[in-house]
Order: sequence, then structure tokens, then C-alpha cells
Amino acid sequence: MPPTIRICRPFFQMTLPRLVFSTIASLILLASSAFAQRTIVVDAGHGGFDRGGVPGQRISEKDKTLDVAQRLKRILQAGGYRVVMTRDSDVFVPLPTRVSIANAYRDASFVSIHFNCAPRVGANGIETYYYRSDSASLAASIHRNVVSGAPSENRGIRRRGFYVLRRTAIPSVLVECGFLTNPTEGQLALTAEYRQKLAEQIARGIRRQPAASRPLTASLRSVSLGDDFVKVPAESFSGSRKHSSKSSRSHHSSKSSSSGSKKKKSHKKSSED
Ligand code: ZN
Repeated sequence: MPPTIRICRPFFQMTLPRLVFSTIASLILLASSAFAQRTIVVDAGHGGFDRGGVPGQRISEKDKTLDVAQRLKRILQAGGYRVVMTRDSDVFVPLPTRVSIANAYRDASFVSIHFNCAPRVGANGIETYYYRSDSASLAASIHRNVVSGAPSENRGIRRRGFYVLRRTAIPSVLVECGFLTNPTEGQLALTAEYRQKLAEQIARGIRRQPAASRPLTASLRSVSLGDDFVKVPAESFSGSRKHSSKSSRSHHSSKSSSSGSKKKKSHKKSSED
């Protein structure tokens, strides 16, 4: 026993502090280098002549996506991330250009910000898309955080071959931050506070922070709905009404997913993913 103690004591006195110090130092180095080098390509949906949404939609999508994207940029930059914007003003950027920007950064992740629309004003909720399998965990992290910060329905995480998700060579996620055609979500999206909240929640998701749980009662299902929120000619949606689960996808009609019904919409936006 005593000899053992004599051997162990010098070991702990001399080696352990050095070991702890070097471990901490290397962890700090690792964390700081990983943090500093982390690049996020932030993609604000639509822009320029492409307002997003559906024709006649009262709240334009392009400026809400840009505002959330710019808020997200500031939050991420403050946290040490390098942020690349596919657009930072009200300009039209073709999808291939957005993809080229993303693919210029090898160790980056791509986050595309959109708002949803639907002919049915009651449609509401958050949905998040990914395509590449290496994007699934990022999609889940962003989705859980955005849902936890929104009083909206959880519409789930879906795998879809949208252009910007399919053509990017880095983990890529597209988040639909609620329906601008829904009275409640539309009004929320009009407030800077809510757009800031969305940006903060997306940033939490990018940082892989755990999502806070929220009260189960916070659903918009019970909201009473007006009927004048979207001014759209009835015929615009004649082809989509029967696909109730797809109706909200109307502004994503150019993506590669198999549903042929989505390709025939008269309001199809070639710029959309
Ligand atoms: Zn959109």
C-alpha cells in the first residue's frame, strides 16, 4: 500500500495538471477552429420580380424571407460563423446561381428560408425539407427549434428533391416558416419581433441546440378564419383543391418530386425550389 501511494502521488501531482491543461487547450483550439471555420450559406427565398407565394397574395414572401435571412446572418455572425448570403437585397437570383454560391463553400451548410402559402386560409404550420441524407439531422434540429418557437402546427420534416436541396453538394435544408396566407401566421410574420424569433430559432437549430418544449395547447387550429385573406381567382387553384395535402406546395411546383399534378399550376414560379 504505501509504495503504491508514493508512486501515485507524484503522477497525479505532475502529470494530471499537465494532462488537464493540454486537454482543455486542445479542446478550446478544436472548438474555436471548428466554430470559426463554420460557414453557413443563407438563402432568402425569391426576390426581385419573384414575390413568392401565389398571385394576389397580400403579404409578399420575398421581403419576409430576406428579413429573416438578414436577421439570421447577424445572429450567426455574432456567434462566430461565417455567413454567405445568396442575396442580400431585393434582387432575383436564379436557382442555379444560388446552388453555385452554396457549392463554392465545401465545409458549409445551406439554409433556405421560405414562407408557405395555400388556397385554404386555415392551412398553417412549420415544415422543413431536406434531400441529401447528410442533411437530415440539420433539418431535424432546425425544424424542432422553429416549431418550438412558433404557435403553429408541426407539419413535419419531409424529404423532397427541391432544386436547391438536390443540386447542392453540402448539407442543405429548406424551412417554411409558416403560411403567409393564414391570418394568424401572416400577422405574426408582419412583426419584426416574430421574424427575429424565427431567425433565433433557426440559428439555434444550426447550432444544434436542444429545442425547448412548448405548451401542447398552442395550436392555431381553433383560430377563426376570415375569407378575404388571399385574393386569388378561384380557377388558379382548380387543379390543386383535390390534393388537399399538396395544396400548400403551390409555390414549389418546379421541384423534381414525382407529383405531376403540381407541375400544371398556372402560377408556377420557375424560380422556386
Ligand atoms: Zn417560397
